Amino acid sequence: MEGDKKLSLFEKIFFIEIIKGHLLTLKYMFGKNVTVMYPDEKRAPVPKSRGIHTFKLESDGTERCNACGLCAKFCPSNCITIKGEKVDGKRIVTQYDIDITRCIFCGMCVDACPKDAIAMVEEYEISVYNKDEMNLDQQGMHKYSSRVPS
Ligand code: SF4
Ligand code: SF4
Repeated sequence: MEGDKKLSLFEKIFFIEIIKGHLLTLKYMFGKNVTVMYPDEKRAPVPKSRGIHTFKLESDGTERCNACGLCAKFCPSNCITIKGEKVDGKRIVTQYDIDITRCIFCGMCVDACPKDAIAMVEEYEISVYNKDEMNLDQQGMHKYSSRVPS
């Protein structure tokens, strides 16, 4: 076969290729470990990675979102549901749901928001056993607000 190396008689008798293979294995056995032993060890996400969504809050803890619906309009997966109402002349959000099972973590919702009201934090451990728990509601959107970089 093309590319096959012809072994010399010496190499054939003393199994040189096999010895080389074992030496390579030994080199990696005692070299620096590159395997991350997740979940005991965790790798820091790359900067600006897009994890789970969360609300950005005002200094008094209130939501910035005014339920304009732009994030839902831009969402290519159509997985955001928003409702709002006017209270004391100010429009507030009364329902904010993201169906995470359909989200592709593209970040378009964050980019589209004119109020800078949502962010995606570096939290990626969001697995659940029941997919019904993958609906992020308005209360859930507060869970990681304290982790939004200032
Ligand atoms: S990250 Fe993308 S897919 Fe997910 S909710 Fe936002 S816009 Fe939709
Ligand atoms: S998160 Fe931003 S874009 Fe989405 S409804 Fe609220 S204010 Fe509008």
